[in-house]
Amino acid sequence: MNILILGSGGREHAFAWKIKQSPKCKRLYIGPGNAGTGLIGENVSLDPNSFPEIGDFVVSNNIDLVVVGPEVPLALGIRDYFKHRDDICNVPLVGPDKKGAMLESSKDFAKQFMVKYGIPTANYATFNQMQLGQALDYLKQQNTPIVLKADGLAAGKGVVICNTLEESEKVLKEMLLESKFGKASSKVVIEEFLSGVEISVFVVTDGSSYKILPSAKDYKRIGENDSGPNTGGMGAVSPVPFADESFMEKVEENIIKPTIKGLKAEQLDYKGFIFFGLINVNGNPMVIEYNARMGDPETQAVFPRITSDLVDLLVGCAQGTLDQVELTIDPKSACTVVMVSGGYPESYQKGLSIEGLDTPTDNLIFHAGTSSQDGHVITNGGRVLAITAFGNDLTSALRSVYDTADYIKWKDVYYRKDIGQDLLTMINKTLETSAE
Ligand code: AMP
Repeated sequence: MNILILGSGGREHAFAWKIKQSPKCKRLYIGPGNAGTGLIGENVSLDPNSFPEIGDFVVSNNIDLVVVGPEVPLALGIRDYFKHRDDICNVPLVGPDKKGAMLESSKDFAKQFMVKYGIPTANYATFNQMQLGQALDYLKQQNTPIVLKADGLAAGKGVVICNTLEESEKVLKEMLLESKFGKASSKVVIEEFLSGVEISVFVVTDGSSYKILPSAKDYKRIGENDSGPNTGGMGAVSPVPFADESFMEKVEENIIKPTIKGLKAEQLDYKGFIFFGLINVNGNPMVIEYNARMGDPETQAVFPRITSDLVDLLVGCAQGTLDQVELTIDPKSACTVVMVSGGYPESYQKGLSIEGLDTPTDNLIFHAGTSSQDGHVITNGGRVLAITAFGNDLTSALRSVYDTADYIKWKDVYYRKDIGQDLLTMINKTLETSAE
C-alpha cells in the first residue's frame, strides 16, 4: 500500500514509525513531516489544510490510505472534501467528517451530545455575546472555582479556570467582548469545576465497532509539579496505574458505548480516533473533553505498546471492517518526555544545532519541531523531540527515558524532570495501604 500521513509533529513521527513496520506498507509519504519522518518515509511539501493539493497528490501517487494527524483539517472537512471529489471518493481516509470533528471543534456541540446520550460530564451552560447579562447572572449562581471554555478550536489554550467570581466575570467579558481567543470565544461554555486525576483514553472506531487503545496520562504544564502555563504537552505515561479493570469497565459502559451509539444515531461519518479526556471523580470517570484525533505526546507513549499491525487497524477503521481486526498490546510501561526549546511556550529560538542524536540507544526518539540543514538536525519549533522508553515497570521506564534525554543537547534545551512522579507516589501509597 502507498500511505500518506498528514501532519508534522511527534504524533505523526510515531504514526510513521509504526506504519513502516507493517509488511503491507510499500511507500510512505508524510506531508509535510519533519526531519525524523524524513528518515522513515518521504517528506512531501503538502499543507494539511490545502485539500485540492492533497487530492491531486493522492491521485498522482496512487495513495491507498490517508491518515490525518492534526485536528484542523478534520474541522475544515477533509473527509467531506474527499467524499465529494469523484477521483478520490473511494480512497480510505482515517479521520471523521466535519460534523463528527465538531466533538472537538465545538465544546458546546460536545456538551449537547454528552447530555443527549447520557454521558457523565460536568454541569454547564453556553452563552454568546448577546447573552452577556444572562451569563453574568449564571456565574453569580455558581460555586468557584469555575471553568470558562472558548467554544471553538484555540490550540489547546481556550480553557480558563477561575478561582473567584470577580476573575470569572473579567475573563468572561474578555472572551465574549474582546475576542480573547479570537472567533473561538464568540461563544463560551461555563462549566462546573471537577476535581480528580485526569486520564486520556483512546478509541479507534469505524462508526460502529471500536477498539480501545492503551490509556495514558499527559502532562500539559511547562513547569514541574504542574506549574506555569499550558503547553502542547510535556510528557506522557502509559498505562495509567489507577485505570484498572473495574475503572476501564466503567469507562467502556458509561462513556465509550454511549458515545459510539450517539455517533450512529446522529449519522456522523466517524471513521477515526476519539480521544476521551477523562477525570476520575471518586472512582467514576467523567468526560472533560473529546478530541477527534490522537493526542500528542500520548501517541508517542501509546503506539509503541501496540504489538499488532497498525496498518490493519487503520484500514479496518477507514473501511468499516474494524470488527475483523486484532489489536494486541504490550503490558510493559512506556513513558515519553518532551524536550522543548528554552522559552517555550512563549518566544524561543529556532535553527539551533541538536547534538547527541546519533548515540546508540534502544529508546525511541520522535521528532516534532525539527528540520534538516546540510545533513544535520536543527530545532524548528517549541516542542522539538519526544523520547520514549519502555520498562517492566514505570520506575525503570522513567530511568531509561531520562538517561537518553541527558545526552541530547542544544542551547537552552528544557524538559520536565518529574514526568510520572505523581503516579509513582500514587502506586507507593496504594502499596503502603495494602501492606497495613
Ligand atoms: P480541555 O481543553 O477541555 O481539555 O481543558 C484543558 C484542561 O483544563 C483539562 O485538561 C483540565 O485540566 C482542565 N479542565 C477542563 N475542564 C475542567 C473541569 N470541568 N474541571 C476541572 N478541570 C477542567
